[in-house]
Amino acid sequence: MKNVARDAVASAQHCAQVAVVGRGGAPSSLTYAVPEALAARVVPGSAVTIPLGPRRVIGIVLGPAGDELPAKLRPILDLVPDSQVPEELLRLATWAARYYQVPLQSFLRAILPPSVRSSHRRQVRPIAGDGGTTIPPPTALEARILARLPESGLGLEQLVAELGRGAAAAVRRLAADGRVVVEDVAVARRAEPTWLRARPACPETPGDLGRARRQAEVYAFVAARRPHAVSRAELEERFPGSARLLARLVERGLCDEIRPDDAAAVEPAGERELTAAQSAALAPIVAALGSFATFLLFGVTGSGKTEVYLRAASAARAAGAGVLVLVPEIALTHQLVGETYRRFAATGGVAVLHSGLGEAERSRTWRDVASGRTPVVIGARSAVFAPLPRLGLVVVDEEHDAAYKQEESPRYNARDLAVMRGKLAGCRVVLASATPALESYQAARSGRYRLLELAERANAAPLPAVQIIDLRARRVDPEPRPRAPTTPLVLPAGGASDSGARIGRAPDPFPLSPTLEAAIADTYRAGEQTLLFLNRRGYARFIQCAACGHVESCPNCSVSLTVHRARAAAVCHHCGYARRPTSRCPSCDTVLDARSFGTEQVEAAVRALLPAARVARLDRDSSGRAGFLGRTIHAWRAGELDVLVGTQMIAKGHDVPGVTLIGVILADASLNFPDFRAAERTFQLIAQVAGRAGRGAKPGRVLVQTYQPEHPSLLAASRHDFASFAERELAARAELHYPPFGRLSRILLEGEEPWLSERAGALAAGLRRAATASAPREPAGGFVQLLGPAPAPIEKLRGRHRIQLLVKTDDHRTMSRWLAAARAIATPRPASRERGTVRTIIDVDPVSML
Ligand code: ADP
Ligand code: ZN
Repeated sequence: MKNVARDAVASAQHCAQVAVVGRGGAPSSLTYAVPEALAARVVPGSAVTIPLGPRRVIGIVLGPAGDELPAKLRPILDLVPDSQVPEELLRLATWAARYYQVPLQSFLRAILPPSVRSSHRRQVRPIAGDGGTTIPPPTALEARILARLPESGLGLEQLVAELGRGAAAAVRRLAADGRVVVEDVAVARRAEPTWLRARPACPETPGDLGRARRQAEVYAFVAARRPHAVSRAELEERFPGSARLLARLVERGLCDEIRPDDAAAVEPAGERELTAAQSAALAPIVAALGSFATFLLFGVTGSGKTEVYLRAASAARAAGAGVLVLVPEIALTHQLVGETYRRFAATGGVAVLHSGLGEAERSRTWRDVASGRTPVVIGARSAVFAPLPRLGLVVVDEEHDAAYKQEESPRYNARDLAVMRGKLAGCRVVLASATPALESYQAARSGRYRLLELAERANAAPLPAVQIIDLRARRVDPEPRPRAPTTPLVLPAGGASDSGARIGRAPDPFPLSPTLEAAIADTYRAGEQTLLFLNRRGYARFIQCAACGHVESCPNCSVSLTVHRARAAAVCHHCGYARRPTSRCPSCDTVLDARSFGTEQVEAAVRALLPAARVARLDRDSSGRAGFLGRTIHAWRAGELDVLVGTQMIAKGHDVPGVTLIGVILADASLNFPDFRAAERTFQLIAQVAGRAGRGAKPGRVLVQTYQPEHPSLLAASRHDFASFAERELAARAELHYPPFGRLSRILLEGEEPWLSERAGALAAGLRRAATASAPREPAGGFVQLLGPAPAPIEKLRGRHRIQLLVKTDDHRTMSRWLAAARAIATPRPASRERGTVRTIIDVDPVSML
């Protein structure tokens, strides 16, 4: 018997099943021996270092090992510090892996950030020997290592440097024999989060800051809060990438750094009386905090849903529990983040999880949360896996938002996982929205969720009047209107001979109807703000030859190219392909026309209409620039902009009192999507955008331009009538077995022809055979409907052809069986030659149907 660990653990109690959280290829879980020294601390959910072949990797303990022990048993090397995954989170991952038909590892990887998974520095520490005789005598090198090691341990790199390359292998042997442990040591210890407070003696805007504009901006923000302090996290949130600026402000003596425990420095949350409706909504949430129930907090825009769930959060904190708040997109939630900081700074603080965090930062935040040091977490969808140890409340704000759906593997919906997490943790779940997803609304109607309604705005202001503008009359007008933007569609081109090449005439039709134009001008003259919304980026939507109908399209995807004037390029919005636009049709040499419009053109039209107005545009093209998003929103909120044009980025959560006019440039953009949720999306968009208007003392006004003015969803939205919209839409869904009445999954096959069509056909045939042969036995039983195979709405994407199959069932269990069957059929046999040419993607509860 060579292996001491093996000896010490004759029984299965001292062995653990450990899931390997590595790259693909590793087995999903293995049995390891638990060394005596760790026995008390190794529990399900513990992150541990384990040997795997010649490597050391991180794994998560799933539970005690089964009865069958492998012949060769290796020991767990150590626990990763501050990295306990709550057991309920482990159960969530297990559940999700089954539900979404992916390996457990995919979800474990989502739980443990890469920086926690990989070791920063390996520290070798001796284990006091028990002098047992089973230990083989050390080799000469091993003996030198043991002699060299101080009790506190030594870096592996240093050992290798001192004793030669053989040292690494010797350390591994020693570790396997349980004589040393190799630990991961985080290189940087956690720095206490600090807050910044402006010095009282300073004038509001010191003259020498004048030139450093951003510094002055940050300083003004901090000074405005005096005598209170502002957390670094909030500043980072508000002014991305400002760490250096903050250091400068401290160096120059303009601000002081404050410890967060200096609670007096932190601005107390303004206590306001709840409205009667808010109190009524809060009561059932906090009545039995420590038990599971899901609430749908359905309140019109501006009804004060935030206040309700933050009060519930305070109650959870008071009970010593943690709080998880999910938001669709963290960059758009300054107000919420700031407010949350103010409320919870004094009691442990708030962790903000977002994709902008560096790996080291993410790892540190993760450990702070896992250890219970930071009990409140705000984050986007992946934060549903935040390792809060004692969860007491889960909030999903804007729960209808499509951003909760992850569109890459593992394809999960964070809203649905949030509910399941609350169930496993035994706590309250609050889903908040002014326009609930029909899935959630139906769950509330059927009693599965509890419906809490806030029917009026917190300040009793009326919802804005919505007017629908019929664009159809304008369509027949063949001539560009005289008021079209004076700037021609000129694209600076490369060659000298080609310079000044233009793509045909100005695009038609012009994005602003006379009614909307007049309203924008009036609003501007009244000194009020206008928000213009269009869910299409770029200048012109496509480029078409008026003579032969040819449309310029992406060589990799079956979609048209969008003209971006600022970049002087024709761009594919799916794969990013971009090229200089050609001015003449490649097939008939006629001058090409840029057609239909995007946000860039709306911006140009507004500038042409009101040359003196302060206009900005927010979409993915403009917000990429560092700090642009934060600065623009700040300026917008401060009333320093007259008109803001943007995509759905601007439809969410900006509570600006000066906004009195909202224009929806083209409601049809979302209405005509090839998607069973198109009507729902359109209703949501209009209701949400409209919710941005009239937040202040003055009433707001909303103009919706459309070619389908009689569409029931638009009419319902114009009356702020969610109930009747839902009634109609739910009836239509029920008839077609669409969610929420049936389960839907999409099986997407991508690859090259002819193998793609062959495989799709074989998959469909296989499933149909199974359906007829086995019904009502396995794998079917229950209603199932297979649609397809058919080309996906985007038939070609990034050079790969795409075919889809839709599976509809009545319940999820049936769906699981069908998807498992599909997976079995779709997995290529190892010997098959076509292997790898076709990729099968299973999307459970799909959101994007493209
Ligand atoms: P929602 O999230 O429902 O759209 P918000 O939470 O943003 O609404 O609240 C809308 C506005 O009403 C905010 O300006 C908020 O400060 C204010 N508000 C919320 N609750 C109250 C209250 N009880 N009394 C006064 N104002 C309130
Ligand atoms: Zn493309």
